[in-house]
Amino acid sequence: MRHYDFLVIGSGVAGLSFALRAAEHGRVAVVTKKESAESNTNYAQGGIAAVTSEHDSTERHVADTLDAGAGLCDEEVVRIVVEEGPERVRELIEMGAAFTRQNGEGSPLHLGREGGHSADRIVHAADATGREVERALLSKTRANDSIDLLEYHFAVDLITEHHLGQHVSRVRPDVHCHTTNPPVATGDGVAMAYRAKARVSNMEFVQFHPTALYHPEGDSFLISEAVRGEGGKLFNQGGERFMFDYDERAELAPRDIVARAIDDQLKKRGEDHVWLDISHEPPAEVEEHFPTIREKLDGLGIDMTSDPIPVVPAAHYQCGGVQTDRVGRTSIDGLFACGEVACTGLHGANRLASNSLLEALVFARRALDPAVAYAERHDVPDGIPEWDASGTARPDERVLISHNRSELKRVMSNYVGIVRSDLRLERAQRRTRLLYEETEDFYRRSTVSSGLCELRNMIAVAYLIVKSARMRRESRGLHYTLDHPEPREAERRPTLA
Ligand SMILES: Cc1cc2nc3c(=O)[nH]c(=O)nc-3n(C[C@H](O)[C@H](O)[C@H](O)COP(=O)(O)OP(=O)(O)OC[C@H]3O[C@@H](n4cnc5c(N)ncnc54)[C@H](O)[C@@H]3O)c2cc1C
Repeated sequence: MRHYDFLVIGSGVAGLSFALRAAEHGRVAVVTKKESAESNTNYAQGGIAAVTSEHDSTERHVADTLDAGAGLCDEEVVRIVVEEGPERVRELIEMGAAFTRQNGEGSPLHLGREGGHSADRIVHAADATGREVERALLSKTRANDSIDLLEYHFAVDLITEHHLGQHVSRVRPDVHCHTTNPPVATGDGVAMAYRAKARVSNMEFVQFHPTALYHPEGDSFLISEAVRGEGGKLFNQGGERFMFDYDERAELAPRDIVARAIDDQLKKRGEDHVWLDISHEPPAEVEEHFPTIREKLDGLGIDMTSDPIPVVPAAHYQCGGVQTDRVGRTSIDGLFACGEVACTGLHGANRLASNSLLEALVFARRALDPAVAYAERHDVPDGIPEWDASGTARPDERVLISHNRSELKRVMSNYVGIVRSDLRLERAQRRTRLLYEETEDFYRRSTVSSGLCELRNMIAVAYLIVKSARMRRESRGLHYTLDHPEPREAERRPTLA
């Protein structure tokens, strides 16, 4: 049994930013289920949205975020994040993060533009921003003697007073076939918090990225929105440029519109991908702007300077999550949530591109003072039970885990995708219920393994998405249903599980 003042689960931007600050106040353990860099953060391409130019303003970033959020953002939170963001970005730079400059070292930051932003405001490191942020944070973390970084450690569940036979004290009263997320993203944080009875909010708002690479060896690889920003055009397999049929902004329409348009084309035409073509742009510019994407595609035999790229929409980001207040406190005393696991009120019904790294940075800072105060007031209680594996055995049929996992992915892709309906959601609920019962039974009888824990967590997250989607009887932001195709004022509130 090890004792720390702060336990951080996860070594992405949220976990590491918090750990580095907390280390000034006590001993910190960062547990992470694979090697440290493996996280969504490491794959972020576009960048961090922050107002750093005199041609931009806080008001414009606030307005863009509220506009994307389709009436469900918490305006006060939006303001906090937008106002505090630039300072957090400056701290990252001081920490050694090397972002792209306009004219080499010492010159002003080069600011990119992404869908839904009314100004150039995306701070980035070429097309691999997350990798640079993760590198800078990890090197500081590794050099810090107050932090133990425990790799290949899997958090199974949160132990609350419930496990000690007491009342839980409260502060106040990828699951889809195509995904851009790395395999570590299985919703463990949301599932654990839900099992511990924390409040979970807005889970129906799953953002699909319109353009993930469609290739047997390329799953989970994102073709950045910036490719469309730089002139990339979408074609169906009949060679038609279809986006104008859906929106006058064509390829530069917001993500949800482009994703729905591609989904519609695939369903109507019975095809499995569309083409994204940027081969008409000068090769030197394509190479300069997209070195990472180009390298990846080259490895698969696709030359993006001359060939179109096969793409499909893919599950990308969860706007909902564990509900927090303005300083990252969840409804369970002593449990803070920050980053993609959290639902702070920033994104509402749809996330504005590049606002998520920003949210993680801002909330990691905001959670510090209350977390330090909490750690000072509380000792680790006696009687925390050791892991008890009695009555379990090594499962002889591990294949059941992989079967249930692929079945779950199919159910979610077929019935809880970009376009939903009452009937599809009902079906999904029945099937996830069955998978839940089978898996819980298997879990009770089996020696614990990461594969089984992940499956259990994915089922819990799927259940929450379906349940929240059924609760919302309108279409808003990322939630689009054929049975209730319009937004309704009476439904303009967060869902809560
Ligand atoms: C391809 C891609 C591109 C993106 N591009 C952008 C972008 O340009 N701009 C932007 O703002 N956002 C972008 N995003 C979203 C953004 O990267 C994420 O929302 C953000 O990085 C989340 O950070 P995090 O620290 O909350 O979680 P993560 O970075 O996912 O870190 C989670 C950590 O928790 C660990 N973990 C999970 N479960 C367990 C467990 N049970 N036990 C122990 N450890 C566990 C994981 O191993 C990992 O270390 C992108 C996402 C993807 C996938």
